Amino acid sequence: MSGPPGGLLPAWLRHPARAGIVFLIIFIAALFGIFTRPVGFLAAIWPANAILLGLMLRWKGTAGPAGWIGAAIGYVLADCLTGSPLDVSLWMTAANMAGVGVGLLLLRRLTPAELALTRSSGVIALAGTALAVATVGAGLGCWAEAVLFDRSPLVAFGNWFGADLLNVMAILPVILTMPERIGAAPVPQPMPPRPERRRRPPISCPEEADPWRWAPAAALALSLLATALVGGAGALTFPVPALLWCALRYPPFGTAVLVLVAALAMVLMVSVGQVHLVPPIPREDMISIRIGITLTALAPLTVVAVTASREELMGRLQHAATHDGLTGVLARKAFMEKAKALTDLLVAEGRPAAVISIDADHFKRINDGWGHPAGDRVLATLAGVMQAGLRAEDLLGRIGGEEFAVLLADVDGVEARKIATRLLDAIRSVEVPLGPGADPYCGSASLGVALVIPDGAGLEAALAAADRAMYRAKQNGRNRVEMA
Ligand code: GH3
Ligand code: MG
Ligand code: MG
Repeated sequence: MSGPPGGLLPAWLRHPARAGIVFLIIFIAALFGIFTRPVGFLAAIWPANAILLGLMLRWKGTAGPAGWIGAAIGYVLADCLTGSPLDVSLWMTAANMAGVGVGLLLLRRLTPAELALTRSSGVIALAGTALAVATVGAGLGCWAEAVLFDRSPLVAFGNWFGADLLNVMAILPVILTMPERIGAAPVPQPMPPRPERRRRPPISCPEEADPWRWAPAAALALSLLATALVGGAGALTFPVPALLWCALRYPPFGTAVLVLVAALAMVLMVSVGQVHLVPPIPREDMISIRIGITLTALAPLTVVAVTASREELMGRLQHAATHDGLTGVLARKAFMEKAKALTDLLVAEGRPAAVISIDADHFKRINDGWGHPAGDRVLATLAGVMQAGLRAEDLLGRIGGEEFAVLLADVDGVEARKIATRLLDAIRSVEVPLGPGADPYCGSASLGVALVIPDGAGLEAALAAADRAMYRAKQNGRNRVEMA
């Protein structure tokens, strides 16, 4: 029998680090909730449940027995150290953890895109889950709270419910949308295929920094200030337009952070009496206010999810419109447009460029002998090896059928021939199995190379010259490179 070492040990001993991390996070979060609680009033900001739910959803390793045990110790210790009786603390911890458990069961069913709040259905599910977490937590915990603070279970239910609802809706989105590795080192890229020293920086159009990118965040700050200065029940909706603007302008994580900041600011303002409702504010009004703030958070989260899914769709459509579906390289029209724009830039700066025309040899034989699907596989493989052999800034396009074209920036005739020869070597190294017992297809192509001459008709003339050179390569026996 083989099993993990220490398989007989209890879970919390097997994963002490995991339990320890969850314990520490929940202990600190619970202490934060207890110390920010208005006197004799259940915490308005109780981040522990939302954080535990987020941890268990994002870092699935924490959703085992070790994580639950660590969390339970964190909740109970924070309560007991701040004066709650052990029995009441155990009760409230059970209520908190039951709420989190229900949230976990509900949100685990979502797709990764929904969970990352890039689908509106994810936001609806989040709202429903917040409702379930708050109902379960409050339903179980209100009795303990009623005992602890000597108030009616109904008011206790409302307090707990409002706080949980707000915290799950405001804090959980930040955890769910947090980028995978904030500040992590960039993913190592494969070795560049062309090690030659570059004489010039690559041509690229760096995205202009938008001087207005802070405007939505500034508008949010101003509207929160207006909430504080003007006051009244309506003031709680002042930040909504700015939050919607943020949602249209920023990615999900940025929006979620701003929603959290706005929600915390509003809860704080209400707590310290900045936002006067019809005086005097009965404590029970906090329940309604928290629910109100939660509902304002729903609007920007929905907008950012719809915006994110629309942008993703637009990106996919854009890719489908500009790339060849079989080989994944640029389609003819997109290649010509991009190549034209790039050669115009290069010619204007007096920088050299070259084009290569590539045509697979005797391709019809593959189709005739082994069928179109075999031909398709060969085409995709040829395109793959060519793309792998080029720099990121080189353009590779499928011009039609089994014909491809390459545009090389900052490359003279000698270098262009070297690159074409290397592409041919890569093509020759291709072997694609065609059928049982049959010899595999061995790559072979004819390549023509031409320089882009800066005479205005640069690209078209160069492509025509490269084509003529390619046909010369065919006449001279195929499987070779010819210069224009
Ligand atoms: P040559 O060496 O003279 O270029 O011979 P060839 O057979 O490669 O050239 P020809 O122009 O006679 O045939 C090209 C073939 O490419 C014909 C066509 O069926 C095939 N072809 C074009 N597009 C595709 C495709 O998308 N998939 C497949 N499987 N075949 C394609
Ligand atoms: Mg052809
Ligand atoms: Mg051909």
